Amino acid sequence: MTDIATILERELGAERLVGPGHEKLEDYGRDESPFPAYYPPDCAVLCDTTEQVAAVLRICAERNVVVTPRGAGSGMCGGALPIAGGVVLSTERMKRVIEINSDDLIAVVEPGVVTGDLAEAAEAAGMFYPPDPASLASCSIGGNAATNAGGLRAFKYGVTREYILGLEVALMGGEVLRCGRRTAKGVTGYDLVAGFVGSEGTFGVITELTVKLLPKPIAASTVLAVFADAVAAGACISTLLREGVRPAILEIADRASINYVRPKSRYRFPENAGAIVLIELDGDGETVARQMEQVGMRCDELGAIDVLIASDPAERRALWEARRLISPALKDHNRTKVNEDICVPRGKIVEMLARIDRVAAETGIEIAVFGHAGDGNLHVNLLSNEDPHDPDNRQRMLMGAKMVFAHTLELRGTLSGEHGIGLSKRDYMPMEQTEQVMEWQRRWKRMWDPAELLNPGKVLPPSTKRCSE
Ligand SMILES: Cc1cc2nc3c(=O)[nH]c(=O)nc-3n(C[C@H](O)[C@H](O)[C@H](O)COP(=O)(O)OP(=O)(O)OC[C@H]3O[C@@H](n4cnc5c(N)ncnc54)[C@H](O)[C@@H]3O)c2cc1C
Repeated sequence: MTDIATILERELGAERLVGPGHEKLEDYGRDESPFPAYYPPDCAVLCDTTEQVAAVLRICAERNVVVTPRGAGSGMCGGALPIAGGVVLSTERMKRVIEINSDDLIAVVEPGVVTGDLAEAAEAAGMFYPPDPASLASCSIGGNAATNAGGLRAFKYGVTREYILGLEVALMGGEVLRCGRRTAKGVTGYDLVAGFVGSEGTFGVITELTVKLLPKPIAASTVLAVFADAVAAGACISTLLREGVRPAILEIADRASINYVRPKSRYRFPENAGAIVLIELDGDGETVARQMEQVGMRCDELGAIDVLIASDPAERRALWEARRLISPALKDHNRTKVNEDICVPRGKIVEMLARIDRVAAETGIEIAVFGHAGDGNLHVNLLSNEDPHDPDNRQRMLMGAKMVFAHTLELRGTLSGEHGIGLSKRDYMPMEQTEQVMEWQRRWKRMWDPAELLNPGKVLPPSTKRCSE
């Protein structure tokens, strides 16, 4: 029997195949999951067009071969890992910005366009694409749609879902479906687009996206407020939100995160700094100036140890430095860094931070927390200097993560605010969702992919129902 790599090479051309023995094939068996995992695919296909994507899905369906869609491989929960081997279908070459239209306020793009490049193309045309995952310099817009990626600006502007108006999707078997719209509003028929967004490459392969753009905000200011502890920082955040301040970005970081960035940051953190709140205001000049004054004043009144305010772009970038340095600093100093992205109701952030401290004390695991306070979406980083491949270390970290999940759910939160479920959180799904809810999702998946060949084994754990039930 001819193997799948040979068939795809013959049908699509050798220049699109990364086949067995190719030095780059290994790259398609990994992503940015916390515990480095490697699942070798039989081959990877780098498609240039929708027709080629459809051809791969047709050929593989005819031969019962599993396909794993892949964007830039920046996912943190193993969604793009080819756990059952087969073919990795990469959209990395589909990088065309097809249209930027300032009258309709939309862009039409191919899925491999890097998110930061889309944002820059929109900005060059005087518009604004708000979703800004911290990985925007490397992740793809197709991957963002597949994971419904969030980002720093989600508090004011929402997540990727809010910006995807229309999609072209290639389905397992080779059918190509165009759904959605390019209008600002539209309620015609069921919302298929909403179903594909966040389906983590298990429903179909996104081959084109129509995204909504906004007019560019005129002014922006940044405030960095330092507090003695997370309780004081949380109280300040609640007060500001109650008073109607609507920042574009509202971030929090705890003492452990500060201690990691302290040696690298140009800003000299006060000795007793126990939490920082970073606030970015944007909009028209007058509103931004008024709110900036209000925010600065409230932070002072509510006990901030230090408050820095900047409107000049270079000064704003300097204030952002501390926040940007956290993740790389945690990674540089720890061989194992497990970043869970739980989300709790906004009013429960301080309670969640206290519970995370308890998990750290009970398990002896160092935990640093930072994240999107405006959304209740916290990046809980479990840290250790042990080898990430060491089974005991892995077990300890997973136990700590499970305790964090249990507290999250007790506070009526959710397992993932933005990274998705993929492989690494799949087995925790029953902690949050009932078997009934998961079973309806399995039926939904089977509607698009009855033979379960597209990215199998992701998002949903196998059914616990017996055949007779
Ligand atoms: C340093 C760092 C910071 C990050 N910050 C954030 C953040 O702030 N917010 C956030 O949400 N995420 C963040 N992430 C996670 C990651 O960048 C996002 O999940 C991103 O959306 C993944 O895009 P990708 O192109 O890399 O997708 P991949 O990792 O290649 O794939 C992710 C999932 O999408 C599917 N997929 C990819 N392309 C397609 C397609 N065209 N059609 C169908 N399915 C597809 C894959 O099968 C997989 O299930 C971060 C990651 C890193 C490493």
